Amino acid sequence: MLTPKDTSRPTPRGKNPGRNREHNRRVVLDLMRRHGRTGRLEIARLCQLTPQSVTNILDELIGEGLIRAAGRRSAAGRGQPPLDYEINPDGAFTIGMELAVTRMTAVVVDLAGQIRRQSSVDVADMSPGAALPRIETLVRELSTDQQGRLMGIGVVMPGPFEIEGFSSVGPTTLPGWAGLDAAAELTARLGAPVVVENDANAVAIGETLLGDHLHLSQFGVIYFGTGIGLGVISSGALMRGAYGNAGEIGHVVAAPGGRPCPCGQNGCLERYASTHALRESLLAAGRSGDLAELDTAHPDADPVLSAWLDEAAAHLGPVISILENVLDPQTIVLAGGLAPDWLDAIISRLRLGTSVSRRSDRTLPRVMRGQSGVFAAAIGAAALPMHDAITPRLELSEVSPPRTEPTEPPR
Ligand SMILES: [Zn+2]
Repeated sequence: MLTPKDTSRPTPRGKNPGRNREHNRRVVLDLMRRHGRTGRLEIARLCQLTPQSVTNILDELIGEGLIRAAGRRSAAGRGQPPLDYEINPDGAFTIGMELAVTRMTAVVVDLAGQIRRQSSVDVADMSPGAALPRIETLVRELSTDQQGRLMGIGVVMPGPFEIEGFSSVGPTTLPGWAGLDAAAELTARLGAPVVVENDANAVAIGETLLGDHLHLSQFGVIYFGTGIGLGVISSGALMRGAYGNAGEIGHVVAAPGGRPCPCGQNGCLERYASTHALRESLLAAGRSGDLAELDTAHPDADPVLSAWLDEAAAHLGPVISILENVLDPQTIVLAGGLAPDWLDAIISRLRLGTSVSRRSDRTLPRVMRGQSGVFAAAIGAAALPMHDAITPRLELSEVSPPRTEPTEPPR
Protein backbone atom coordinates (compact mmCIF):
# COMPACT_ATOMS: atom_id res chain seq x y z
CA MET A 1 0.00 0.00 0.00
CA LEU A 2 3.02 2.26 0.18
CA THR A 3 3.32 4.84 -2.53
CA PRO A 4 6.99 5.28 -3.29
CA LYS A 5 8.53 8.62 -4.06
CA ASP A 6 5.92 10.88 -2.65
CA THR A 7 7.32 14.34 -3.16
CA SER A 8 4.18 16.46 -3.06
CA ARG A 9 4.03 16.73 0.71
CA PRO A 10 6.68 18.92 2.30
CA THR A 11 9.31 16.86 4.08
CA PRO A 12 9.60 18.01 7.68
CA ARG A 13 13.10 19.19 8.48
CA GLY A 14 15.23 17.51 11.07
CA LYS A 15 17.06 19.43 13.72
CA ASN A 16 20.82 19.23 13.75
CA PRO A 17 23.21 18.68 16.70
CA GLY A 18 22.12 18.73 20.26
CA ARG A 19 18.45 19.11 19.53
CA ASN A 20 15.43 16.90 19.37
CA ARG A 21 16.63 13.33 18.91
CA GLU A 22 13.14 11.82 19.06
CA HIS A 23 11.91 14.28 16.46
CA ASN A 24 14.77 13.37 14.11
CA ARG A 25 13.94 9.67 14.40
CA ARG A 26 10.37 10.40 13.40
CA VAL A 27 11.46 12.55 10.48
CA VAL A 28 13.68 9.76 9.14
CA LEU A 29 11.07 7.02 9.66
CA ASP A 30 8.35 9.13 8.06
CA LEU A 31 10.54 9.85 5.06
CA MET A 32 11.47 6.20 4.59
CA ARG A 33 7.85 5.14 4.84
CA ARG A 34 6.78 7.60 2.16
CA HIS A 35 9.77 7.31 -0.17
CA GLY A 36 10.48 3.61 0.06
CA ARG A 37 14.07 2.45 -0.43
CA THR A 38 16.47 5.35 0.22
CA GLY A 39 20.17 6.00 0.75
CA ARG A 40 21.86 7.73 3.68
CA LEU A 41 22.95 10.86 1.81
CA GLU A 42 19.51 11.24 0.21
CA ILE A 43 17.90 11.04 3.64
CA ALA A 44 20.34 13.64 4.96
CA ARG A 45 19.58 15.96 2.06
CA LEU A 46 15.79 15.61 2.20
CA CYS A 47 15.59 15.86 6.00
CA GLN A 48 18.26 18.55 6.20
CA LEU A 49 20.24 16.58 8.75
CA THR A 50 23.98 16.00 8.77
CA PRO A 51 25.10 12.66 7.28
CA GLN A 52 26.58 11.80 10.68
CA SER A 53 23.23 12.40 12.44
CA VAL A 54 21.52 10.20 9.86
CA THR A 55 24.11 7.46 10.36
CA ASN A 56 23.45 7.52 14.10
CA ILE A 57 19.69 7.37 13.62
CA LEU A 58 19.91 4.59 11.03
CA ASP A 59 22.14 2.55 13.36
CA GLU A 60 19.63 3.00 16.14
CA LEU A 61 16.64 2.06 13.95
CA ILE A 62 18.47 -0.99 12.55
CA GLY A 63 19.31 -2.02 16.12
CA GLU A 64 15.61 -1.86 16.96
CA GLY A 65 14.69 -3.83 13.84
CA LEU A 66 12.55 -1.03 12.43
CA ILE A 67 14.57 -0.60 9.24
CA ARG A 68 16.97 -2.83 7.35
CA ALA A 69 19.70 -2.61 4.71
CA ALA A 70 18.24 -3.04 1.22
CA GLY A 71 21.35 -3.70 -0.84
CA ARG A 72 23.42 -1.46 -3.06
CA ARG A 73 22.38 0.28 -6.23
CA SER A 74 24.03 -0.83 -9.44
CA ALA A 75 27.56 0.52 -9.73
CA ALA A 76 27.95 3.78 -11.60
CA GLY A 77 31.48 5.06 -11.71
CA ARG A 78 34.27 4.07 -9.38
CA GLY A 79 34.05 2.77 -5.87
CA GLN A 80 31.37 0.81 -4.10
CA PRO A 81 27.85 2.26 -4.61
CA PRO A 82 26.17 3.39 -1.39
CA LEU A 83 23.90 1.14 0.62
CA ASP A 84 20.13 1.69 0.57
CA TYR A 85 17.80 1.25 3.52
CA GLU A 86 14.09 0.46 3.81
CA ILE A 87 11.37 -0.04 6.41
CA ASN A 88 11.45 -3.56 7.87
CA PRO A 89 7.83 -4.80 7.69
CA ASP A 90 8.56 -7.43 10.36
CA GLY A 91 10.00 -4.86 12.76
CA ALA A 92 6.76 -3.97 14.50
CA PHE A 93 3.03 -4.30 14.17
CA THR A 94 -0.11 -2.65 15.47
CA ILE A 95 -3.62 -3.92 16.09
CA GLY A 96 -6.67 -1.92 15.13
CA MET A 97 -10.18 -2.60 16.40
CA GLU A 98 -13.50 -1.17 15.41
CA LEU A 99 -16.29 -1.41 17.95
CA ALA A 100 -19.60 -0.92 16.18
CA VAL A 101 -23.07 -1.43 17.58
CA THR A 102 -23.25 -5.17 16.85
CA ARG A 103 -19.85 -6.05 15.51
CA MET A 104 -16.19 -6.08 16.53
CA THR A 105 -13.63 -6.01 13.72
CA ALA A 106 -9.88 -6.23 14.17
CA VAL A 107 -6.82 -6.16 11.90
CA VAL A 108 -3.09 -6.64 12.39
CA VAL A 109 -1.02 -4.23 10.30
CA ASP A 110 2.76 -4.44 9.90
CA LEU A 111 5.23 -1.56 9.84
CA ALA A 112 5.02 -1.34 6.03
CA GLY A 113 1.25 -0.89 6.19
CA GLN A 114 0.31 -4.38 5.03
CA ILE A 115 -2.61 -6.18 6.63
CA ARG A 116 -1.35 -9.40 8.19
CA ARG A 117 -4.53 -10.75 9.80
CA GLN A 118 -8.14 -9.72 10.13
CA SER A 119 -11.06 -10.95 12.14
CA SER A 120 -14.66 -9.93 12.60
CA VAL A 121 -17.15 -11.18 15.20
CA ASP A 122 -20.79 -10.41 15.90
CA VAL A 123 -21.30 -9.10 19.40
CA ALA A 124 -24.82 -8.83 20.76
CA ASP A 125 -23.85 -6.82 23.85
CA MET A 126 -21.31 -4.03 23.26
CA SER A 127 -21.52 -2.60 26.78
CA PRO A 128 -18.07 -2.29 28.43
CA GLY A 129 -18.69 -5.19 30.84
CA ALA A 130 -19.34 -7.61 28.00
CA ALA A 131 -17.07 -6.10 25.35
CA LEU A 132 -13.83 -5.59 27.31
CA PRO A 133 -13.15 -9.33 27.93
CA ARG A 134 -13.90 -10.09 24.28
CA ILE A 135 -11.49 -7.37 23.13
CA GLU A 136 -8.82 -8.91 25.36
CA THR A 137 -9.38 -12.36 23.85
CA LEU A 138 -9.33 -11.06 20.30
CA VAL A 139 -6.09 -9.12 20.83
CA ARG A 140 -4.41 -12.24 22.30
CA GLU A 141 -5.54 -14.37 19.35
CA LEU A 142 -4.35 -11.86 16.78
CA SER A 143 -0.97 -11.24 18.47
CA THR A 144 0.14 -14.88 18.34
CA ASP A 145 2.63 -15.70 15.58
CA GLN A 146 3.35 -12.03 14.85
CA GLN A 147 6.97 -11.02 14.42
CA GLY A 148 8.36 -7.82 15.86
CA ARG A 149 7.10 -5.63 18.62
CA LEU A 150 3.48 -4.68 19.28
CA MET A 151 3.69 -0.88 18.91
CA GLY A 152 0.24 -0.27 20.23
CA ILE A 153 -3.46 -0.83 19.79
CA GLY A 154 -5.92 1.56 18.26
CA VAL A 155 -9.60 1.32 19.12
CA VAL A 156 -12.31 3.20 17.30
CA MET A 157 -15.88 3.65 18.30
CA PRO A 158 -18.60 5.97 17.09
CA GLY A 159 -18.46 9.50 18.46
CA PRO A 160 -19.37 11.99 19.68
CA PHE A 161 -17.52 11.70 22.98
CA GLU A 162 -18.66 13.31 26.21
CA ILE A 163 -21.18 15.78 24.90
CA GLU A 164 -23.83 16.67 27.44
CA GLY A 165 -27.30 15.85 26.23
CA PHE A 166 -25.79 14.56 23.03
CA SER A 167 -23.60 11.56 23.86
CA SER A 168 -25.11 8.08 24.04
CA VAL A 169 -28.17 9.24 22.20
CA GLY A 170 -29.72 7.18 19.54
CA PRO A 171 -28.91 3.82 18.06
CA THR A 172 -25.62 4.82 16.46
CA THR A 173 -23.61 5.29 19.63
CA LEU A 174 -22.39 2.58 22.01
CA PRO A 175 -24.29 2.18 25.28
CA GLY A 176 -22.46 2.40 28.59
CA TRP A 177 -19.17 3.86 27.38
CA ALA A 178 -19.87 7.49 28.28
CA GLY A 179 -17.79 8.58 31.25
CA LEU A 180 -15.46 5.56 30.99
CA ASP A 181 -11.77 6.23 30.30
CA ALA A 182 -11.67 3.55 27.62
CA ALA A 183 -7.99 4.13 26.74
CA ALA A 184 -6.83 3.75 30.36
CA GLU A 185 -9.07 0.73 30.96
CA LEU A 186 -7.85 -1.02 27.81
CA THR A 187 -4.18 -0.13 28.36
CA ALA A 188 -4.36 -1.73 31.82
CA ARG A 189 -6.04 -4.87 30.47
CA LEU A 190 -3.99 -5.33 27.32
CA GLY A 191 -0.52 -4.36 28.58
CA ALA A 192 0.17 -2.22 25.51
CA PRO A 193 -0.50 1.43 24.77
CA VAL A 194 -4.07 1.96 23.56
CA VAL A 195 -5.29 4.96 21.58
CA VAL A 196 -9.04 5.57 21.37
CA GLU A 197 -10.47 7.71 18.61
CA ASN A 198 -13.77 8.22 16.87
CA ASP A 199 -14.22 6.23 13.69
CA ALA A 200 -14.14 9.03 11.11
CA ASN A 201 -10.92 10.51 12.55
CA ALA A 202 -9.24 7.11 12.59
CA VAL A 203 -10.23 6.44 8.98
CA ALA A 204 -8.76 9.80 7.95
CA ILE A 205 -5.44 8.91 9.63
CA GLY A 206 -5.61 5.47 8.02
CA GLU A 207 -5.99 7.02 4.59
CA THR A 208 -2.90 9.22 5.13
CA LEU A 209 -0.73 6.46 6.54
CA LEU A 210 -1.84 3.31 4.80
CA GLY A 211 -3.90 4.18 1.78
CA ASP A 212 -3.02 5.32 -1.68
CA HIS A 213 -3.67 8.86 -0.47
CA LEU A 214 -0.19 9.28 0.99
CA HIS A 215 0.27 12.25 -1.31
CA LEU A 216 -2.70 14.09 0.18
CA SER A 217 -2.19 16.50 3.05
CA GLN A 218 -5.42 18.56 2.98
CA PHE A 219 -8.59 16.52 2.72
CA GLY A 220 -11.74 15.40 4.44
CA VAL A 221 -13.00 11.84 4.86
CA ILE A 222 -16.74 11.29 5.17
CA TYR A 223 -17.11 7.98 6.92
CA PHE A 224 -20.17 5.74 6.81
CA GLY A 225 -20.14 3.75 10.01
CA THR A 226 -23.41 3.09 11.72
CA GLY A 227 -23.89 6.83 11.59
CA ILE A 228 -21.92 9.28 9.49
CA GLY A 229 -18.83 11.27 10.47
CA LEU A 230 -16.09 13.46 9.06
CA GLY A 231 -12.34 13.31 9.65
CA VAL A 232 -10.28 16.28 8.50
CA ILE A 233 -6.57 16.13 7.71
CA SER A 234 -4.97 19.57 7.63
CA SER A 235 -1.26 19.93 6.76
CA GLY A 236 -0.92 16.17 7.23
CA ALA A 237 -2.31 16.22 10.77
CA LEU A 238 -5.70 15.36 12.17
CA MET A 239 -7.89 18.30 13.07
CA ARG A 240 -9.36 17.15 16.37
CA GLY A 241 -11.05 20.25 17.71
CA ALA A 242 -10.95 21.45 21.30
CA TYR A 243 -12.67 18.31 22.70
CA GLY A 244 -11.91 15.69 20.04
CA ASN A 245 -15.26 16.02 18.30
CA ALA A 246 -14.33 18.01 15.21
CA GLY A 247 -16.15 16.66 12.18
CA GLU A 248 -19.26 15.45 13.96
CA ILE A 249 -21.48 16.06 10.95
CA GLY A 250 -24.08 13.38 11.70
CA HIS A 251 -26.21 15.84 13.62
CA VAL A 252 -25.89 18.72 11.21
CA VAL A 253 -29.42 19.60 10.11
CA ALA A 254 -29.55 18.73 6.42
CA ALA A 255 -33.34 18.77 6.08
CA PRO A 256 -34.95 21.46 8.27
CA GLY A 257 -38.20 20.15 9.72
CA GLY A 258 -37.34 16.66 8.49
CA ARG A 259 -37.25 13.31 10.25
CA PRO A 260 -37.03 13.50 14.05
CA CYS A 261 -33.65 12.53 15.47
CA PRO A 262 -32.91 11.11 18.96
CA CYS A 263 -30.69 14.18 19.54
CA GLY A 264 -33.85 16.32 19.70
CA GLN A 265 -33.50 18.01 16.34
CA ASN A 266 -35.28 17.31 13.09
CA GLY A 267 -33.66 16.45 9.77
CA CYS A 268 -30.14 15.53 10.91
CA LEU A 269 -27.88 14.25 8.11
CA GLU A 270 -27.55 10.92 9.90
CA ARG A 271 -31.31 10.33 9.57
CA TYR A 272 -30.80 10.03 5.78
CA ALA A 273 -27.18 9.35 4.88
CA SER A 274 -26.32 6.43 7.15
CA THR A 275 -26.59 2.66 7.14
CA HIS A 276 -28.97 3.04 10.06
CA ALA A 277 -31.31 4.95 7.75
CA LEU A 278 -30.90 2.19 5.14
CA ARG A 279 -31.88 -0.41 7.74
CA GLU A 280 -34.94 1.61 8.61
CA SER A 281 -35.91 1.73 4.92
CA LEU A 282 -35.54 -2.03 4.64
CA LEU A 283 -37.70 -2.60 7.73
CA ALA A 284 -40.31 -0.17 6.44
CA ALA A 285 -40.44 -2.23 3.24
CA GLY A 286 -41.18 -5.36 5.28
CA ARG A 287 -37.68 -6.78 4.92
CA SER A 288 -35.26 -8.08 7.56
CA GLY A 289 -33.16 -4.94 7.92
CA ASP A 290 -30.05 -7.07 7.52
CA LEU A 291 -27.61 -5.34 5.17
CA ALA A 292 -25.93 -8.68 4.47
CA GLU A 293 -28.85 -9.64 2.26
CA LEU A 294 -27.93 -6.68 0.03
CA ASP A 295 -24.25 -7.55 -0.31
CA THR A 296 -24.46 -9.10 -3.73
CA ALA A 297 -27.13 -6.77 -5.07
CA HIS A 298 -26.19 -4.32 -7.75
CA PRO A 299 -27.11 -0.90 -6.30
CA ASP A 300 -29.76 -0.27 -8.92
CA ALA A 301 -31.17 -3.80 -8.86
CA ASP A 302 -32.64 -3.35 -5.39
CA PRO A 303 -35.36 -0.68 -5.21
CA VAL A 304 -34.93 0.01 -1.48
CA LEU A 305 -31.16 0.29 -1.80
CA SER A 306 -31.46 2.46 -4.88
CA ALA A 307 -33.94 4.81 -3.17
CA TRP A 308 -31.68 5.09 -0.13
CA LEU A 309 -28.67 5.91 -2.33
CA ASP A 310 -30.71 8.69 -3.99
CA GLU A 311 -31.77 10.07 -0.64
CA ALA A 312 -28.31 9.83 0.94
CA ALA A 313 -26.72 11.60 -2.06
CA ALA A 314 -29.39 14.31 -2.11
CA HIS A 315 -28.70 15.23 1.53
CA LEU A 316 -24.95 14.78 1.31
CA GLY A 317 -24.37 16.99 -1.74
CA PRO A 318 -25.11 20.36 -0.08
CA VAL A 319 -23.16 19.35 3.04
CA ILE A 320 -20.12 18.51 0.88
CA SER A 321 -20.34 21.91 -0.83
CA ILE A 322 -20.31 23.58 2.60
CA LEU A 323 -17.31 21.49 3.66
CA GLU A 324 -15.48 22.48 0.48
CA ASN A 325 -16.04 26.15 1.17
CA VAL A 326 -14.99 25.79 4.80
CA LEU A 327 -11.95 23.54 4.28
CA ASP A 328 -10.76 24.22 0.70
CA PRO A 329 -9.61 20.57 0.52
CA GLN A 330 -7.67 18.75 -2.19
CA THR A 331 -10.58 16.32 -2.27
CA ILE A 332 -13.33 14.81 -0.13
CA VAL A 333 -13.03 11.05 0.35
CA LEU A 334 -16.02 8.79 0.98
CA ALA A 335 -15.13 5.71 2.99
CA GLY A 336 -16.58 3.14 5.30
CA GLY A 337 -18.37 -0.13 5.72
CA LEU A 338 -20.32 0.17 2.47
CA ALA A 339 -19.54 -1.96 -0.57
CA PRO A 340 -17.27 -0.07 -3.00
CA ASP A 341 -20.10 -0.19 -5.57
CA TRP A 342 -22.40 1.59 -3.14
CA LEU A 343 -19.87 4.35 -2.44
CA ASP A 344 -19.38 4.79 -6.18
CA ALA A 345 -23.16 4.89 -6.63
CA ILE A 346 -23.47 7.68 -4.02
CA ILE A 347 -20.64 9.65 -5.67
CA SER A 348 -22.25 9.34 -9.11
CA ARG A 349 -25.58 10.56 -7.67
CA LEU A 350 -24.13 13.65 -5.94
CA ARG A 351 -25.20 17.01 -7.27
CA LEU A 352 -22.43 19.29 -6.14
CA GLY A 353 -23.09 22.99 -6.14
CA THR A 354 -20.70 25.81 -6.81
CA SER A 355 -17.92 26.02 -4.26
CA VAL A 356 -14.24 26.95 -4.08
CA SER A 357 -13.50 23.36 -5.12
CA ARG A 358 -14.99 23.91 -8.56
CA ARG A 359 -11.83 24.66 -10.49
CA SER A 360 -10.69 23.79 -14.00
CA ASP A 361 -7.15 22.88 -12.92
CA ARG A 362 -8.21 20.06 -10.63
CA THR A 363 -6.07 16.93 -10.79
CA LEU A 364 -8.37 14.96 -8.48
CA PRO A 365 -12.15 14.66 -8.52
CA ARG A 366 -13.97 16.75 -5.92
CA VAL A 367 -15.26 13.58 -4.28
CA MET A 368 -13.56 10.18 -4.48
CA ARG A 369 -13.80 6.75 -2.89
CA GLY A 370 -11.42 5.81 -0.07
CA GLN A 371 -8.74 3.17 -0.48
CA SER A 372 -9.09 1.26 2.75
CA GLY A 373 -12.25 -0.70 1.91
CA VAL A 374 -14.83 -2.14 4.26
CA PHE A 375 -12.22 -2.59 6.99
CA ALA A 376 -11.45 1.14 6.82
CA ALA A 377 -12.18 1.85 10.48
CA ALA A 378 -10.16 -1.08 11.84
CA ILE A 379 -7.28 -0.22 9.49
CA GLY A 380 -7.55 3.40 10.59
CA ALA A 381 -7.46 2.22 14.21
CA ALA A 382 -4.27 0.27 13.49
CA ALA A 383 -2.78 3.38 11.91
CA LEU A 384 -3.31 5.45 15.08
CA PRO A 385 -0.47 4.04 17.24
CA MET A 386 1.79 3.96 14.18
CA HIS A 387 0.97 7.59 13.44
CA ASP A 388 1.81 8.41 17.06
CA ALA A 389 5.14 6.61 16.83
CA ILE A 390 6.27 7.58 13.34
CA THR A 391 4.80 10.85 12.20
CA PRO A 392 6.86 13.91 13.10
CA ARG A 393 4.98 16.23 15.41
CA LEU A 394 4.92 19.26 13.21
CA GLU A 395 3.98 21.63 15.97
CA LEU A 396 7.21 20.78 17.78
CA SER A 397 9.47 21.56 14.89
CA GLU A 398 10.23 23.98 12.16
CA VAL A 399 8.71 22.78 8.94
CA SER A 400 8.70 23.92 5.38
CA PRO A 401 5.53 25.87 4.75
CA PRO A 402 2.82 23.64 3.24
CA ARG A 403 2.47 23.97 -0.47
CA THR A 404 -0.61 25.76 -1.52
CA GLU A 405 -2.41 25.35 -4.77
CA PRO A 406 -3.59 28.52 -6.48
CA THR A 407 -7.20 29.23 -5.70
CA GLU A 408 -9.39 30.68 -8.35
CA PRO A 409 -12.78 32.17 -7.89
CA PRO A 410 -15.61 29.69 -8.40
CA ARG A 411 -16.92 29.31 -11.89
ZN1 LIG B 1 -29.51 14.44 15.40
